[in-house]
Amino acid sequence: MSNVDIPIVIIGAGPAGLTAARVLTELDIDYILLSREKVPGENKACAGFIPSSALRDFDISTFPGAHPVTTVRMKFPRQDMKTVEFGAKVGVNASRADLGMTMLKYVGAGSGEIRFQTEVGHVSVKKSGCEMTLHKQGQFEKLTSEIVIDASGVNPVSLKTVQLRERLPDHLMGYTAQYQMRRPSSMGSLNGVNDFYYGSDFSPSGYAWVFPRGHDIAVGTGGLLRSFKEEKKRMFDYLEHLVSHDDSAKATLENAEVVKRESALVPLAGVVQPSFTDRLMLAGDAAGHCCPITGEGIHYSMIGGRKAAQTAAQAVRKRDYSAGVLSKYEKDWIKAIGSNLKWGLWLQQRMVGSSSGGLGTSLVGSDRSRKLIAEMLVGARSVRATLLAAAPTYMAKKLQRKLQHPAPHHGG
Ligand SMILES: Cc1cc2nc3c(=O)[nH]c(=O)nc-3n(C[C@H](O)[C@H](O)[C@H](O)COP(=O)(O)OP(=O)(O)OC[C@H]3O[C@@H](n4cnc5c(N)ncnc54)[C@H](O)[C@@H]3O)c2cc1C
Repeated sequence: MSNVDIPIVIIGAGPAGLTAARVLTELDIDYILLSREKVPGENKACAGFIPSSALRDFDISTFPGAHPVTTVRMKFPRQDMKTVEFGAKVGVNASRADLGMTMLKYVGAGSGEIRFQTEVGHVSVKKSGCEMTLHKQGQFEKLTSEIVIDASGVNPVSLKTVQLRERLPDHLMGYTAQYQMRRPSSMGSLNGVNDFYYGSDFSPSGYAWVFPRGHDIAVGTGGLLRSFKEEKKRMFDYLEHLVSHDDSAKATLENAEVVKRESALVPLAGVVQPSFTDRLMLAGDAAGHCCPITGEGIHYSMIGGRKAAQTAAQAVRKRDYSAGVLSKYEKDWIKAIGSNLKWGLWLQQRMVGSSSGGLGTSLVGSDRSRKLIAEMLVGARSVRATLLAAAPTYMAKKLQRKLQHPAPHHGG
């Protein structure tokens, strides 16, 4: 007989936690999911682009509030806005509350219980099980489980008490500022068009974005926390510059009002290990499951949540909650998304601070390479495949520059 209240506790109702819940329901394993908000996603700062690959991977058909994206426009320093039309849907823009409610529907009813407006305060992992303190509308209570899947976001709650790894340093942490805006009139032909702005006018080390969905628009900027701290300019100054001075943005945002100002952290750290210990797994942003070059984390977190739930289910069946059994989880997510995290970090570290706004002049110099980048930005091409496909142009341009400006000869 077990001494704990429930085999598995999931903390967080973001894409990682809700996907873990969905998988455990499908596997008929008992769990409780705890999350602090009333409606899943309602408080999450996010631009809300969900790539088609994520929808396909998780059999999510179109849902209320999902706005198809078919076109990407990109502005690089000293270039006009360039348009890449895909001619078909490459993803959708949605509010995080609409995505959250959809994902909740996919969890369905069964072996799990979901408790919203419940904050987890303290997590301890002992030999006999895990123990959490919960706070719900003025009431405190305790809950015990065999395993915890901590999907509570970029600074996971369990790491306050469990010595698993350090908090991510500023050069591996992303920082974002965003306006949620609303236009009185319809966006017309600009609906379905996601804009990306590169260069030091828009972000010291990343990019700014304008993602429309009906009358609503997510307008934001993001980059590495370290570079924002080093700059004198505040993040919202970059955003103001975009909103007030850029002609393309002004056209999209015609008469739009700011309905919400938000800022948030996002992990841009590559493969972060360890992501588990005895009885505990981190999933989603909590485990760094977000692409360091694009900032895309919804699909990655869903994959992290799925893998964590599958391993947790195996551990419950075996009644073995040790790190030895849970280590499978880390192997599985690295196999699935490790390459994009690794190469995304590689590219980010080479491009941050370059004069072309993070992506390298030669990498953005031709229609072909810009199409490749647009495909990477919408999650249709892996980072490695983008680099390999762009490499001939990239290398040729580098060689050309070398030949035009040969290094001075110091020989005797
Ligand atoms: C401004 C911005 C724009 C972005 N735009 C995009 C985009 O367009 N497309 C994309 O793919 N990715 C985007 N991302 C990244 C994406 O939002 C994240 O990678 C993704 O949300 C991570 O999902 P998650 O489930 O791990 O965590 P989250 O979505 O952060 O969910 C964490 C959950 O844990 C709950 N929680 C936290 N602490 C506690 C606690 N103590 N007790 C109980 N519950 C708790 C929260 O309430 C929440 O439900 C963006 C990020 C930012 C900051």
